[in-house]
Amino acid sequence: MYQRRGSIQDWNFLFRRPLLAWEEEEVVRLQELLRDAPSLTTDSEDSCLWLVNSSGSYSIASAWKWWVSMKSSAVGVTDMMWKNIAPPKVQFCGWLAWKGRLKTSTFLKRIGVLNMEASSLCLLCKAEGEIVNHVLLFYPLVRKVWINILKWLDLVWVLPGSVEVLLNWWASFKFKKVVQTMWKTVPLAVMWSIWKGRNECLSHGKIVDGLELSKLVKVRVALWSKQSTRGLQFLVEDIVNNLDRIKA
Ligand SMILES: [Zn+2]
Repeated sequence: MYQRRGSIQDWNFLFRRPLLAWEEEEVVRLQELLRDAPSLTTDSEDSCLWLVNSSGSYSIASAWKWWVSMKSSAVGVTDMMWKNIAPPKVQFCGWLAWKGRLKTSTFLKRIGVLNMEASSLCLLCKAEGEIVNHVLLFYPLVRKVWINILKWLDLVWVLPGSVEVLLNWWASFKFKKVVQTMWKTVPLAVMWSIWKGRNECLSHGKIVDGLELSKLVKVRVALWSKQSTRGLQFLVEDIVNNLDRIKA
């Protein structure tokens, strides 16, 4: 169902019967979702990669290293959480999210701060219960922010199933030195920016915008890097707009 006409690549769905109006709307929604998905590399064949190794090929030594690191992944996440260049309040927010203790309305209800009649719906979409994984990962606008940021870092990925899995993966990924410093703060910056946006929505009724949030995340990461890495010669603007040149 995936078609390619010249440079245009699109999904072309064929249905056995004409669609009803509401179904057509669903197809449009699906198209939009697919457009945001990682792009398919249609000219290369599918292959298996051993992601633990940068070469992509399996070795017993790398499997051993991976197993040891999995065993200590909580240590890796703790390290990433606290040993980085983000301000302490941002680190603390990330730690709360990791431990599932962010003060969402569902959490506040559970510990008895909000009474049982209070709404525990997500403030942003008002469609699902407000739990950490929904607010920080799965809410469509938030998912777009993650996708934008991963594109910025020149990575293609599939959204992990929970904040915990995301952080485990993040902590095990290594970059070159300059970017590695930024890398560790990226999930913290994303979660902090989303949570701050959510709180501004709660207190001032401010509408959260995905593109604006993505930009904010990049600027925050760039500013923290500039402030704490002595001799970092790149401009904030370069980090935000030309990260690939810095990575090279
Ligand atoms: Zn929501």
